[in-house]
Amino acid sequence: MYEAYLAFGSNLGDRKKIILTAIDKLLQKGLILHKISSLYETIPYGYTEQPIFLNCVGSFLFGKTSYDLLEITQGIENELGRKRTIKWGPRNIDIDILLFAEQVINKDDLTIPHYDIQNRLFFLIPLTEINPDIEDPRNGLKYREYLKRLMDSDVDSIKLFTDKETLLFELKKLSEHYI
Ligand code: ADP
Ligand code: MG
Repeated sequence: MYEAYLAFGSNLGDRKKIILTAIDKLLQKGLILHKISSLYETIPYGYTEQPIFLNCVGSFLFGKTSYDLLEITQGIENELGRKRTIKWGPRNIDIDILLFAEQVINKDDLTIPHYDIQNRLFFLIPLTEINPDIEDPRNGLKYREYLKRLMDSDVDSIKLFTDKETLLFELKKLSEHYI
């Protein structure tokens, strides 16, 4: 089994329920939830004239390849009705593969670690919440060091929305597949 770190984002509709439903669908596909972060509320990045996001990161155990995982996450985005319109624009669900085992992949359709992992507080804060010692497979630097560098910038853009115990409780209520 490989450990994959996935980032979830939603800023349209019932944002928390959509993220929990996406996680449930991953569990239906046989992924095993290892750890989940708290849920954070985040002021949009890139294209800023849009509603506020909810973001979290989960780590999952998965037995197939990173491309198999991408196919699954894109399938779930489509099932949940994601429309691809404006780049970085509003979406009811975005699932990004942040890390997959220790792999480094540099293809257009799949870049791992995620191409912007070191620049986004809404990736780094939940990622290091789950695993404070996790390292960049490209250079061995700890992601908490990247986070430290960003901390002066715009920490006000992100705040806690639901702590992880409550989020897990809500996932258990919604998902038959969470054990
Ligand atoms: P973004 O997440 O940057 O807002 P999208 O979710 O629309 O953009 O993703 C666009 C494309 O990014 C997808 O078609 C996918 O093939 C590609 N991609 C490259 N690397 C990754 C990754 N690590 N996780 C998810 N998608 C990726
Ligand atoms: Mg994406």
